[in-house]
Amino acid sequence: MVLADLGRRINSAINNMSKSNVVDEKVVDDMLKDICKALLESDINVKLVQQLRKNVKASINLDENTGAVNKKRNIQKAVMDELTRLVDPGVEAWKPKKGKANVIMFVGLQGSGKTTTCTKLASFYQRKGWKTCLVCTDTFRAGAFDQLKQNATKAKIPYFGSYTETDPVQLAHEGVNKFKKDHFEIIIVDTSGRHKQEQELFDEMQQISSAINPDSTIFVMDGTIGQAADAQSRAFKEAANVGSIIVTKMDGHAKGGGAISAVAATQCPIIFIGTGEHMHDLERFAPGPFISKMMGMGDISGLMETVQDLKLDQNKDLMKKLEQGQFSIRDMYEQFTTILKMGPLSKVMGMMPGIPQELMAGSDQDATNRIKRFMCIMDSMSAQELDGEGKEFINEPKRINRVARGSGTSVVEVETLLQQYKGFAAMVKKMGGQNGFLKNMQAMQQAGGAGGGGGPGGMNPNAMAQAMRQMGGMGGVQNMISQMGGMGGVQNMIEQMGGMGAMQDMMRNFGMGGMPGMGGGGGGGGRGRGGGMPDMAKMSQMMRSMGLA
Ligand code: GDP
Ligand code: MG
Repeated sequence: MVLADLGRRINSAINNMSKSNVVDEKVVDDMLKDICKALLESDINVKLVQQLRKNVKASINLDENTGAVNKKRNIQKAVMDELTRLVDPGVEAWKPKKGKANVIMFVGLQGSGKTTTCTKLASFYQRKGWKTCLVCTDTFRAGAFDQLKQNATKAKIPYFGSYTETDPVQLAHEGVNKFKKDHFEIIIVDTSGRHKQEQELFDEMQQISSAINPDSTIFVMDGTIGQAADAQSRAFKEAANVGSIIVTKMDGHAKGGGAISAVAATQCPIIFIGTGEHMHDLERFAPGPFISKMMGMGDISGLMETVQDLKLDQNKDLMKKLEQGQFSIRDMYEQFTTILKMGPLSKVMGMMPGIPQELMAGSDQDATNRIKRFMCIMDSMSAQELDGEGKEFINEPKRINRVARGSGTSVVEVETLLQQYKGFAAMVKKMGGQNGFLKNMQAMQQAGGAGGGGGPGGMNPNAMAQAMRQMGGMGGVQNMISQMGGMGGVQNMIEQMGGMGAMQDMMRNFGMGGMPGMGGGGGGGGRGRGGGMPDMAKMSQMMRSMGLA
């Protein structure tokens, strides 16, 4: 998790304060001293840290006659509020509008991650169903067009650029017009950078901007630059009409706090953070959830959004089948396809409250490979076998040999797949029932507006509480994850959420913990089981503190 270390240190400062019997000025000062030290060491601007200290002190009243417990709670809340304020400029970020051309221009220094992030963002919108494309105007850096072209091709996103045209303004103009004519909804324009802030770069930026008149300009900043973030973001804000910020390279960088200063320097919201070099390593950024996640309290709204992205309720055929208690091998195949589209497992798990971060390390690729291997096995099945519910293989076990040969796997692997399909099907059927998780997801989406941003404000607290109760019944998320290390899927998580009562069955059925090459299975099992998921009392307390219930 981004800035997990900072979160841990702040938590421990708060916990130390909570342990003391009296809550007086000294106790508060000690806590603030520790918190400020941690903030400074993660490179957050000194002035901001001083301001935070002042604000926390001003907002708590130690003379109040409310008892130590209440005082501690108020202090904790004041700290959380001020941390959130650090990353919240109080300005609503620009949002694209459906059914029109939304032109987004990327600016930033060379190497900050513009080209990478352009594709990530395009892919993000594409997954959400927008008609998306990319325009390369970088004629400064050799190979810039090739880089964008490669990224775009991999993500199957239409792109525009040229090997011969040297005028970036001309390219921007041509590309944007072409895509506008073709009714694209999200047109992302990548620009060139320079090694440092220099006039030539700013001139070019301004010329491109006047040529294409972007609906939004996004400043891309390298999250590893520490204290320099303040001056750099200020300079870009002055030179271009920057509307929002994306901070990149926040993966595992302890000093990433410096980047947060850009919010105060520009009064622009951070809208995403880059957390790796791959397509899916882009996380939506919102102040409250970010701080909550940093402090190890999960990000319920992000989780819900991801679940909504699966559009389970819109898969009418599947829903209908489930209601009738059907789930074929082909249905499982389709579910796997969905999982692979969702991106890394760890991203989703990071949003769940109470999940130890270490648990998520290293198993994504294994899990993905496993799913792909399963799909490969299913590719060797006939239509009849796919649409059956495994009967064909029971009646004529020879079929297993054929499928194993055809897919280049072994009989044992095909049998494992069929075994797991059985467990999966049983689970999914339970999930589809009247009181299953899906029904609640549907209710939630209807209440919160399907396809919306999915912020906590837009969700129906009752539906949320119901879903959370279901999640709460899961009995140890760590357990679940160690299973998922094997199965490796968001979908699986959802199935598990749904089939509360049958959780144990499923684990037995899946029995993945000991499969070879499953980092998650082995790793997860060794850690304190059951301690992962907060109990329901804790959960509802957390929801209350997040304003969800
Ligand atoms: P540009 O010059 O601004 O277009 O930057 P690029 O998109 O070419 O990125 C420069 C380098 O940073 C590349 O090696 C990227 O893979 C890397 N990069 C970009 N974003 C991230 C990120 O979020 N995390 C990490 N670890 N690397 C990143
Ligand atoms: Mg570039």
